[in-house]
Amino acid sequence: MTEIARLLAANDAYAAARRHVADARPGRRLAVVTCMDARIDVFAVLGLHLGEAHVIRNAGGRVTDDVLRSLALSSHVLGVDTVVVMQHTKCGLAGVTDEELRNLTGADLGFFPIDDHAAALREDIELLAATPFLTPLAVVAGFVYDVESGEIDDVVRWERPA
Ligand SMILES: [Zn+2]
Repeated sequence: MTEIARLLAANDAYAAARRHVADARPGRRLAVVTCMDARIDVFAVLGLHLGEAHVIRNAGGRVTDDVLRSLALSSHVLGVDTVVVMQHTKCGLAGVTDEELRNLTGADLGFFPIDDHAAALREDIELLAATPFLTPLAVVAGFVYDVESGEIDDVVRWERPA
């Protein structure tokens, strides 16, 4: 069976048993920005259920322009007021440089490598706090998820001044 056929076969079973969520607005008014790493089961790690949160994933779980684009819609159209940015241990973007990643991939891009998790989280959260169109956001938290223990380190917190 090819990988695609395997996915479609699994979907037959899923569609037959799935729970339908009618409301597109996340029930917990929450968005999680995290890495694409295959070891992170975002819903299980944070105790979330279908319909409760937006999950925005990319390499590193960094706040890129495309994350800002998604959060503009999350916050203004879909009621999100809380964001968690969750990086993780053993990330492929940690301890490497843009130059190394450009050489490795042949892609002339900014890869948002992570030198230090706390510094990278502070940088990303400052960007969210300072982005003029993200005014509906009231709370942003920065976590580091340990892929070995499953535990979260609660590193940075920002709340919009009243
Ligand atoms: Zn990662």
